[in-house]
This record gives sequence, C-alpha cells and structure tokens, in this order.
Amino acid sequence: MEIGADVVVCGGGPAGIAAAISSARAGAETLLIEKNSSLGGVVSAGLLSVFGPLDDGDRLLDWERDRRIEKGLPLTPAMKTGNRIIGGIALEIVENLAKTGAAIDYGYGFIPVNPERLKRLSEEMAEAAGAKIFYETLLTGTVIEGRKIKAVETAGKSGMTRISGEIFIDATGDGDLSFLAGAPFEKGREKNGRMQGVTLVFWLGNVKMKSRFFTDRQQIEEANGLFGEYYREGKTKALHQVGCINVIPGMKDVVAVNTQHTHCIDGTVTADLTRALIAGRREVEEIAGLFRKHLKGFEEAFLLDTASMLGVRETRRIRGRYILTGEDVLQARDFEDSTGRNAYNLDIHLPDEPMEGGFLTPGTSYAIPYRCLLPAGIENLIVAGRCISTTHRAQSSVRIIPCCMVTGQAAGIAGAISARRGVLPGEIDTGILQNAVKDAGGII
Ligand SMILES: Cc1cc2nc3c(=O)[nH]c(=O)nc-3n(C[C@H](O)[C@H](O)[C@H](O)COP(=O)(O)OP(=O)(O)OC[C@H]3O[C@@H](n4cnc5c(N)ncnc54)[C@H](O)[C@@H]3O)c2cc1C
Repeated sequence: MEIGADVVVCGGGPAGIAAAISSARAGAETLLIEKNSSLGGVVSAGLLSVFGPLDDGDRLLDWERDRRIEKGLPLTPAMKTGNRIIGGIALEIVENLAKTGAAIDYGYGFIPVNPERLKRLSEEMAEAAGAKIFYETLLTGTVIEGRKIKAVETAGKSGMTRISGEIFIDATGDGDLSFLAGAPFEKGREKNGRMQGVTLVFWLGNVKMKSRFFTDRQQIEEANGLFGEYYREGKTKALHQVGCINVIPGMKDVVAVNTQHTHCIDGTVTADLTRALIAGRREVEEIAGLFRKHLKGFEEAFLLDTASMLGVRETRRIRGRYILTGEDVLQARDFEDSTGRNAYNLDIHLPDEPMEGGFLTPGTSYAIPYRCLLPAGIENLIVAGRCISTTHRAQSSVRIIPCCMVTGQAAGIAGAISARRGVLPGEIDTGILQNAVKDAGGII
C-alpha cells in the first residue's frame, strides 16, 4: 500500500503534536504517524503529566513559590519576576487544559497536566487543523533518492506501508527517521557516550496530598535522609530520594511519581529498553512500599499504573547546521535565525557528575536557531523535539516539553512553507518563517 502527504510527521509526542497541528494550520496536507495508540509520547504513554516552565523566572524558587501560593502566603518580589517566554501551541494547550481543570498553571514553574485530556485535546486540535493521524504505525525505513527522502516505510496492523511526502519531520524523540535516512548524529556525553538515566514513571492511587507537587520540605528532608541511608547501606537500589511527585489534575487522590532511575541504558536498543522496563517495574513496587511506610498521606496508596512507554531522556542528537551548546544556554544567547525561546536549566540525570548542570540568570532566556532543526546531508528533512542538534549539556535543557513544542511548531510551519512554495527547508527565508511563527503565537 502507498499513501502520501505534503508533510509527513514521524512521532506524535510533544514535538510531533505541535509540528502536525502547525503544518496543517499553515495549509499543508499533513500526515502524522505514531507507534503508540495516543498522542503525547512521554507525557501520555510515559505517564509523566508535568509540563516544564513556560516562563523565565528563578527556577530555584519554584518549590517555595508553590508552597506559598498553596498556603495563601505572599510572594517575594523575586518570585514574581518570571515572564512567559514560550507561547504558541504549548501555551494554547496549557490554557485550554487549565480551562477545564486539566492543568494547574500558576503562571510560573512546572505545570501538572491530565494526560487523558491531553490525548484527546491533541487529537481535537490536529483534526480541527486537518492533519491526519495514523496510530499503531512504526517507522521502519526510508526510501532515499539522492539527498532527499522520497518515502518512509512503516509497519502496522495492515502490513507494510510506504508513505511518500515532500517534506518529512523527525519528531520521534530518538531521531529514528534521521538515523534511517543516514543523517549524522551523536549520542551521550562527548567524552564517553554516556546518556542520562531512564525512568519508569508510575501512578499511585488513594494518596492524600493537598498541594500540586509534594513540597513538604520537612518530610522531604527526612525521607531523603532515610532513603539515602537505605541506598548507601544497600537496603534498596530503587531510590535514594523522594523525587518529583505531582497530582494529576482532575483525578481524585492520584499522583504521578518520577523518581525511579536505571542507568547505562541506550534507549535505541531493544534489549536495553526491555531490561530497564523490567528493572523499573520491580523497583516501582519497592518504591511504592517505601512511600506507604514513610510518607504522610501515602499510607493507603496503591499502585495504579506503570507507564507503557519508558521515560527516555536522551538518545540521538541529530547533527545540524548549528550545534547548540551548554554555554549558549547558560549565557542566554540570541540567534538571528531564532525559532523560539527556552529558559530551562541544564538538567542532567547522571549521578557521577551532577555539577555539569547549571541555571540561567532569572529573567533571561536563550534562542533556538532554525539551523539546529536542519540535519546535515538530508535536504527535505526537519528535526524537532529532544533530538535536535545540540551538545549533551544543551540537550538537557532543550528536552523539556514546552521547548519540544517550540521546535515542533517551527518545524511544522517551516515544512508547510517548504511544501507550499516548492523550496527546501534550508532555503526558506528565516524572516518569513519567524513572522509565521509569531503570527501563530510563538515568541522569537
Ligand atoms: C522521566 C522523565 C521525566 C521528565 N520530566 C519532565 C518534566 O517534568 N517536564 C518537562 O517539560 N519535560 C520532562 N521530561 C522531558 C520530556 O518529557 C521529553 O523530553 C519530551 O517528551 C520529548 O518530546 P519529543 O516529542 O521530542 O519525544 P517523545 O515524548 O519521546 O515523543 C516521541 C514520539 O514518537 C513516537 N515514536 C518514536 N519512535 C517511533 C517510530 N520509530 N515510529 C513511530 N513513532 C515513533 C513515540 O511513540 C512518541 O510518541 C521528562 C522526561 C522523562 C523521560
């Protein structure tokens, strides 16, 4: 079977959602293929349910700000300095979810969202824009002609299908499409290839928690001390600290837990994924038991679900025309071909060198150059999401959901401009692209 579209988006996570909606809204016939049975990627199938910040406020104050808002206490001036630096699809989704109680947005910091609502909302937005979705469709190969992708090969219930297109967008998180097309890439830390730890996120039911995040400082300090001791003494290998726990907006007494980690895993290797899923599920049971025993409000908690998709933070970074660096992030650099902004810190989940991270000066943000979305060697391919062209350090900031939507939105608009005008993505006038991104609510 062979089908086709102007713009073919591979992967329906945060980047793919934004890309497909934006491409279709910009007038291109758009097809999105996704191996899972819903949109959202790590946020839905991965059970994650938290958007990173859309603002440039002081990240070190996020927890205390939350605590004060929840207790009705006044905020200090420094806690009120963050500006929205991400708009477009990410903001549209957050505002839409918040309207129905499916997101808790204080205007600053991390935003818990309801993944079930996100799944449906993304479908509604894609359908309204005219994008077609193909679920249960695994990208398996490419048909290359010269320096262009002519078609992608997919496998699904109806067998093998070829999908042809003018422009292809790689939003697979792992850079599968770019890899299959032969684009150059890097993986992991430059000196030894090590990638960030993976996490099996899980949900607990029957938890009594009053705030949107678990921010009880005293309890956290006590529990971290205890879990750290257990970890060092070898009584548990499953955790050494509480980690991130958030409510699921719209679900009573349900929380998502992001604390389990498995290290030395390559998320593009099937055997590694399997090992991490099995180890993760074993450790999750142990963590649930420790929480029941040691955290107030968790005494009667039960394990509701483990993610059907492993939480993979980092795999391939597709080498593009520019490689965004950790310094670009920390120095809040601007670029002439900016497609959008981000202000999230360097957040590296590798236990041996935590000092590789770092924070931006509050009130500043960095630009994401369009060149980071243009892979070397393949002319009709655009990359979006956590696999764009960066160093290992910069990827740890770029990878957050709103930023993946920023690059997805730019990729979708660029794809539609290319397809409609018959020019290659690398030949687009960046001024025209930036105006279109701004018209779509993006902040350049
Ligand atoms: C445990 C964990 C906690 C995190 N916490 C936060 C947080 O609190 N806030 C935040 O903002 N970010 C957080 N992140 C980061 C963020 O969730 C991811 O970086 C982001 O989801 C990446 O978006 P993406 O669209 O690039 O990729 P993904 O979310 O990975 O989506 C890729 C999509 O492509 C599909 N796909 C992949 N390969 C194929 C293929 N071959 N064929 C067809 N479909 C394919 C996948 O099924 C998936 O739906 C976290 C990440 C992890 C792993």
